[in-house]
Amino acid sequence: MTIAIIAHNGKKPEMVMFLNEFRDILHAKHIKLVATGTTGAKTEEAGFEVEKLLSGPLGGDAQIASRLAEGKIDMVIFFRDPLDKHPHEPDIFMLMRLCDVHNIPLATNPATARLLMKAI
Ligand code: PGA
Repeated sequence: MTIAIIAHNGKKPEMVMFLNEFRDILHAKHIKLVATGTTGAKTEEAGFEVEKLLSGPLGGDAQIASRLAEGKIDMVIFFRDPLDKHPHEPDIFMLMRLCDVHNIPLATNPATARLLMKAI
């Protein structure tokens, strides 16, 4: 199972706390993590193996969207910051749209992410 992780800058500390909370589940053999660039670096620092794609504003969200359209991503954990502006807003909407097109579970806040973790 491949899980994509993305966190906007204002949400990265919360994302790291989340990873630590679910460390056992996320370290399971059958789970593969993929993340946008800076989120991936933080994920690595927290002690996880993760494939890092481009940083979000440089196309990382678009890369994740493309992979999920190809059936290569099974879940998206997206810690969005709704109180900040993002130059790559169109990519973010594309990613969320494609999750709905392809029926991929998408958490856009920590509460939903926790519920998804408890389901796997
Ligand atoms: P980042 O990108 O992990 O490279 O910060 C996330 C985003 O802004 O969508």
